[in-house]
Order: sequence, then structure tokens, then C-alpha cells
Amino acid sequence: MTSEQLQKKIYSKLAAALGLVLVLAIAATFGKQTMPLTGSTMAVLAPGVVIDAGHGGYDGGAEWGDVIEKNINLSISLHLREILLAAGYRVALTRYGDYSLIEQETSNPKKREDMARRLAVIEQNAPDFFIVIHCNAMASTRWSGAQTFCQHESEQGQELAKDVQHYLREITATTRFASSLDHYLLRESNITGCLVEAGFLSNSVERELLQQDSHQRRIAAATWLGLEKYSRDKGENVEGN
Ligand SMILES: [Zn+2]
Repeated sequence: MTSEQLQKKIYSKLAAALGLVLVLAIAATFGKQTMPLTGSTMAVLAPGVVIDAGHGGYDGGAEWGDVIEKNINLSISLHLREILLAAGYRVALTRYGDYSLIEQETSNPKKREDMARRLAVIEQNAPDFFIVIHCNAMASTRWSGAQTFCQHESEQGQELAKDVQHYLREITATTRFASSLDHYLLRESNITGCLVEAGFLSNSVERELLQQDSHQRRIAAATWLGLEKYSRDKGENVEGN
């Protein structure tokens, strides 16, 4: 797909989604509905998503020269937030800037506490989905390509990961397939989620791409399209039953 075709596709989807936003706004005016991400007892129309931008603050994640994973994760997460909000989703992030979720003084082990707090943010928001954003890095520079992961044996997570990967393959150069792993957040939460490894910082071509807004938006758009496909297929299955 050329980038022009991609843009057309995304804009037409966004236009449809923006129509939905208008309908929701009108419905809210008449019905006096609010759409907080919490408050699951309310009749909520729009799906909720929590985005976890991996690392932050003292924890840079993978580094390659002056390119630091935490910054790219946050940029992609903010692009994803923007797209999802435009598409009528309710969205929260585990972090909105370059900070960790723990105080520097917290001992015992920082990383575990940081992950526990991310999990707490996800659970408190009670979203329909959560998306974890990271970048990869390997000792060898030859590996490249975005890849989506689900928790081992999570059927719903597997479906979502496959759907996101489908669009990553369509609108980025990746030839990878969705896979599974053991990841704290995906394991400990009952909410349907997946981990998007946006690409390899260790590969020079991909490292350049990952720093570009246009490429970050592609990763975000693929994730959104995957969420849409998952919801659509699930809706059809429910109707089919
Ligand atoms: Zn990472």
C-alpha cells in the first residue's frame, strides 16, 4: 500500500469515527451521559483503552547511542491516544511524560513496584482493552520489524494481537507474525491486552524510522485498526450466537 492509499484509508476511517463522536456528543447532550473511563455501572457507549508507554524516568529501557526507548514508547502512545480519542474511544495512559511511576527513593525492587503501579492504573480505569508499547533491541543489528505479543494461552489476547499484527504487516514493512510471551501486565490483568514491540532500535534503518512522527503514527494507526477489527469480529460472533 502506498502512503497515499494508507492516508486515504486512515482518513476515511477517521471521518467515520468522527461521525460517531458527533453522534455521541449529541446523545450526551440529550441523555446527560458522561463517559468517564471508570464507572462501569453506567451505560457506556465507547470502548475504553489504557495505553502503557513502557519505561520512563530513571528507566530508559533499551538505548542505542542517544536514542532511548522510553521516549519513542511515549511518542507512539501519545499518537495512539490522539487517534483513539478522535475515533470516539475513552483513553487513559499509565504515564503522560518522562517519569517513572515510583519515587526514586523507593527501594525494593524498583522495577517490580513500577510494574505493580502500572497494573493498578490499568485496573482502576477498568478499560475494555489495554495496549503496552515497547521497542526491541538485540545484540545483532540484523533483526527488524514490529511485532505484537499476547500472554501465553490468552485466547482473547491472541485474537487482539493477531488483529494488530495484521495491520502492522499491511502498513509497515514488518513480515513478523503475532506471538506469545510471559509478561507481567498481560499475565496479571484479566482485561484483554497485547504488547506492541514497535521495532528494533538495534537496526539502523528501523531506528531512524522509529524516531519519525509518520512512522510512529503508522504503528499507532495499525494498533487502532487492530482494536477496531477485534471489536467488529467479536460483535459479529455475539450476533451469530
Ligand atoms: Zn522496553
